[in-house]
Amino acid sequence: MKYKIPSKYLLLFFCVVSLLSNNPLHAQKKEFVLVLDAGHGGHDPGAIGKISREKDITLTIVRLVGNLIEKKLSDVKVVYTRKTDVFIPLEERASVANNNHADMFISIHVNAAKSRAAYGAETYTLGLAKSQSNLDVAMAENAVMLLEDDYQTKYRGFDPSSVDSYIMFEFMMDTYMDNSISFATDIQKQFTQSAKRFDRGVRQAGFWVLHRSACPSVLIELGFISNYSEEMYLTSNIGQNELAESIYSAFLKYKNNHYKKLNYSNGDESESAGIQEKRAEDNRKVKEAKDSDDIKVTPVNTKDEALNSEEGKQMPVFKIQIKASPTSLKSNHAGFKGLKNVEYYKEGGMYKYTYGAETEYSKITKLKNDINAKFPDAFIIAFVGEKKITVSEALKYVK
Ligand SMILES: [Zn+2]
Repeated sequence: MKYKIPSKYLLLFFCVVSLLSNNPLHAQKKEFVLVLDAGHGGHDPGAIGKISREKDITLTIVRLVGNLIEKKLSDVKVVYTRKTDVFIPLEERASVANNNHADMFISIHVNAAKSRAAYGAETYTLGLAKSQSNLDVAMAENAVMLLEDDYQTKYRGFDPSSVDSYIMFEFMMDTYMDNSISFATDIQKQFTQSAKRFDRGVRQAGFWVLHRSACPSVLIELGFISNYSEEMYLTSNIGQNELAESIYSAFLKYKNNHYKKLNYSNGDESESAGIQEKRAEDNRKVKEAKDSDDIKVTPVNTKDEALNSEEGKQMPVFKIQIKASPTSLKSNHAGFKGLKNVEYYKEGGMYKYTYGAETEYSKITKLKNDINAKFPDAFIIAFVGEKKITVSEALKYVK
């Protein structure tokens, strides 16, 4: 008789395996893995200028950056999402990063605007767009998923052209935010100092490809193909080399600052030094906040036993986020409008206040309706264990 493993145990097994950070494959890794992603390709040209196409510029720059690193940095493994003129779906680009246990993901693009006057370089990290122009850039880049036949299933109903879809990026806990922003800041510094580019700054927006990559990640918009003089620069040898050198220099600094300890020999270091430091700092911040506050804190980076069910399998917990503040607030703060048992968690340097904790989605939506008159902007968030996840992901667990 054939023994059949019940599917729920199989599911549990995969959950446990994926939760184990002591993955031996990862532990034996001694090099820094950098994934370089040349935007667009194949039947997707990206933005089109007078004399060039985005997909060609991004590929050239990626190859130049990759060559510099391969020549000069023997402890870095460069992985390319594409090295030729082919179409790669967005989801696959992120998979390349995840399958290779990337330590950094750099996606390279070229901007375009209706106004031909717009010019300059900008670097994005994942986050909720704070301005229409940032949102427009993310919408334009995410729109490539529409070129795939099955994009609705593949991208789980995410509509790149609907503003509502982007709300999910506010729900997201990005563990890698600080590292991504520090790298993005150095890229912009190099662009302005070495390549004499106009600095459009470090920005945040909801890029699918960044959200799916489980490592620090940035998306660079090198310049505007729609501005003729910038297009000339982007297509010139001098321009392309200056841009590539700038990215290389910023990367070198990042690697030296964050991954000095990467060349360990015992092979049991499961997390990069940067992430360990980040985690320690988060825990310290949570502790500090706890000491100086009278509101219960939801730990974001430590185990929360209360969330474990009897099987040890973690169930998502839904909460309602009612308020965010750069400073910690007392439980009797006017902004809570008399609500009792408010909790908070820290994310992106903000104190985020929540109300309620339910494992059933229907109960949390009911609770949200109850407080809707007082908190019309409140929204539902979800945690599984210490990890904040998207509500749509959480709903898959509970179904
Ligand atoms: Zn692009």
